[in-house]
Amino acid sequence: MEYSIKTIGVLTSGGDAPGMNAAIRAVTRAALANGIRVKAIFHGYNGLMAGEIQEFTTQDVSGIIQRGGTILKSARSKEFMTLEGRQKAYETMQREQIDALIVIGGDGSFSGARLFAQEFNVPVVGIPGTIDNDLWGTDTTVGYDTALNTIMDCVDKLRDTGTSHERLFLVEIMGRDAGFLTLNAAIAAGAEAAVIPERTAVETQIEEAIGHGRRKHKNSGIVLVQEHAVPGGAKAVGEMIEKLHPEYDTRVTILGHLQRGGSPSAFDRIVASRFGCAAVQALIDEQRSVMVGLQNGEIVYVPLSKAIKEKKDIKDDKWRALQVLSI
Ligand code: ATP
Repeated sequence: MEYSIKTIGVLTSGGDAPGMNAAIRAVTRAALANGIRVKAIFHGYNGLMAGEIQEFTTQDVSGIIQRGGTILKSARSKEFMTLEGRQKAYETMQREQIDALIVIGGDGSFSGARLFAQEFNVPVVGIPGTIDNDLWGTDTTVGYDTALNTIMDCVDKLRDTGTSHERLFLVEIMGRDAGFLTLNAAIAAGAEAAVIPERTAVETQIEEAIGHGRRKHKNSGIVLVQEHAVPGGAKAVGEMIEKLHPEYDTRVTILGHLQRGGSPSAFDRIVASRFGCAAVQALIDEQRSVMVGLQNGEIVYVPLSKAIKEKKDIKDDKWRALQVLSI
């Protein structure tokens, strides 16, 4: 069957996330299976403006499903935030005869995509690719599950040494403005507390978790701190605890970019594969400016405007579970 969209461009943008390659592979193969050509765009929006483009065949995406990072490279682009930059990007699309764009990235990348689509009437579909899982309208994002498992493994290791030396470890976790990664990793790793931006009163949180531990004669422990929950991150929380409970021997560990790396989990590979196929289908069905998402195990399409603007809630039962289980 002949579709109005004959060539799709695909790019990765913003912070990289494990499983992006699985999504690129799925987009490429799903498009080719429908007789649609695929043009891979390197270095995110920068590459779209500069014309760093290569047509992909099915072989170009073989052997990448298990690889972390993104073979297309990623970038943050100041120029794309200007109208002149987006005009250049549009000119590249016309020159390369790219009819539609699939953007794999986070909320910033989708803000850019949405604006671009509005200004130049370009069909755009987003695939949520970020370890932060901070996009509204989807239960998960590509890379989130792998990052969770990476953090859990690291925290397990820290607990071994923390217990041996009777220390309290403050572990700083990524997440931009969102605490999903921190809270869920805290539950999975059996941490004593999580400090997240969605819940204020840090002192109370700490006092409850650490105070309880003290009463139960715990003299070691793990507190996960979301990087922007308090100014100064885990280090600041460590100083706070030392003041409140000088009896604790505290140590700070910043996991940093290792949270973004590694081979994607089976879950992320499957989600990325489904999202890639669903994104191509959305364009075939003439959907515009939507993000592919997963809700209760089913694929959904969410307007980009909502995915960006609405705030995803922290599940209260999870927050309560952490409080109960940490004492
Ligand atoms: P992550 O959540 O992993 O950090 P992200 O997609 O949110 O990923 P950002 O750095 O926020 O990462 O955005 C990526 C790129 O998207 C920016 O460098 C910029 O080029 C583009 N972008 C972001 N916001 C806008 C905007 N309002 N208008 C135009 N382009 C934008």
